[in-house]
Amino acid sequence: MCLLRQTGKENGLLGKSLLIRKPPVELSFPDGKKGKHKMNILVINCGSSSLKYQLIDSISEKVLAKGLCERIGSDGACITHTPAGGEKKTDTIPMPDHNAAIAAVIEKLTDPEVGVISSLDEINAVGHRIVHGGERFSKALLIDDDVIKAIEDVSDLAPLHNPANLIGVRACAKLMPGVPMVAVFDTAFHQTMPSKAYLYALPLEYYKKYKVRRYGFHGTSHDYVSNRAAQILGKKREDLRIIVCHLGNGASVTAVDHGKSIDTTMGLTPLEGLIMGTRCGDLDPAIITFLMNKLDCSAENVLTILNKKSGMLGLSGGISNDFRDLSRAAAEGNKDAETALQAYALRVGKYIGAYAAEMDGADVIVFTAGVGENDGAMRKRISDYTEFLGTSVDPEKNKIRGEEVILSRPEDKVVTMVVPTNEELAIARQTLAIVGSKDVN
Ligand code: AMP
Repeated sequence: MCLLRQTGKENGLLGKSLLIRKPPVELSFPDGKKGKHKMNILVINCGSSSLKYQLIDSISEKVLAKGLCERIGSDGACITHTPAGGEKKTDTIPMPDHNAAIAAVIEKLTDPEVGVISSLDEINAVGHRIVHGGERFSKALLIDDDVIKAIEDVSDLAPLHNPANLIGVRACAKLMPGVPMVAVFDTAFHQTMPSKAYLYALPLEYYKKYKVRRYGFHGTSHDYVSNRAAQILGKKREDLRIIVCHLGNGASVTAVDHGKSIDTTMGLTPLEGLIMGTRCGDLDPAIITFLMNKLDCSAENVLTILNKKSGMLGLSGGISNDFRDLSRAAAEGNKDAETALQAYALRVGKYIGAYAAEMDGADVIVFTAGVGENDGAMRKRISDYTEFLGTSVDPEKNKIRGEEVILSRPEDKVVTMVVPTNEELAIARQTLAIVGSKDVN
């Protein structure tokens, strides 16, 4: 019996329909039509020992408060809370489990001094980021016991993430009984990929039996950013071939062809594709057994190296996974840092070229996430590989950080632009759309 059901019993919530509460207010919708009254949507991104949250007002789409619980389950657990317009403050408080973390979040949100709502009743819905939806989920949906079971069923595909995400779901169900909750999957946007893009060249039975295939991640970001890019250009996404480069600590490129993801660089797990902060990206799979022999260690140990000690951190000889440190080191003459930056740009450039080939060209290249939004020098290095497509980067505009900006010239064949991602807002919008579209009586 799943915990949610137990929790439901404790709270008198036996059936899945009882999880859904009628929203007390009129709704607004993501297509720009706004209702008269607002909803507050709590967005939760729950990891195994951390929990990020944002409370978002559905009308203004402003963040009312945001924060982070860290070291949940350990000594020194703390919550950092920032109300809109207020100061960021960190408090060390005991958080033995995620229930305690959610309780701490609610306490902060309703606190007379640093809070932004007067009671729990002002949280109208919760949107949960769920990393892996497998093949089952191609869109966000209302959470009930069946959905929880299905998320559990695909947990072997994301053993570090999905169980942690579900802990957050259950903690919210326990502490906010009756508040509708929506699961928004990182993989969902990529479910439109054709089989020629998602199948690995392995014996087909492994796909059929174990669902070994490319899933792709950062889907919420690729969806949001490609939509926003089309909006900024005053065009329909359905009329464009867009290549989105989500370059953060984790990084992926996606080909969005006439509104649909048709290929993406991350695979069965987020380890494949680009060089990332600490993840290796594409690799000859034989390296795994080679290193197991050389280091006399297990496959798990090698995977830890590939996930945590590789990427820019590994390639730079351990300098840093942060592009600010690497740029500084390269400018001071460190050759390993310079090579790492060159290798990073080359990998992104290669994929942009590949995806342009897949879409028979490209109309827009978009940069987003920490590196994509802020690191003009890296954008320039990457763009040096894309000039053949007919695009350019204006050096002055390229100095801009963290803002929506078109970097190319109006006469260029391909638009290059920066669109800051906002996964929390995208989750809040999808949550609102689902809660609003349900008959919640
Ligand atoms: P994200 O995962 O999207 O939060 O991106 C985090 C990464 O973005 C950091 O590890 C940095 O490498 C990079 N980053 C953030 N700010 C800057 C900046 N101002 N210049 C260069 N890189 C940045």
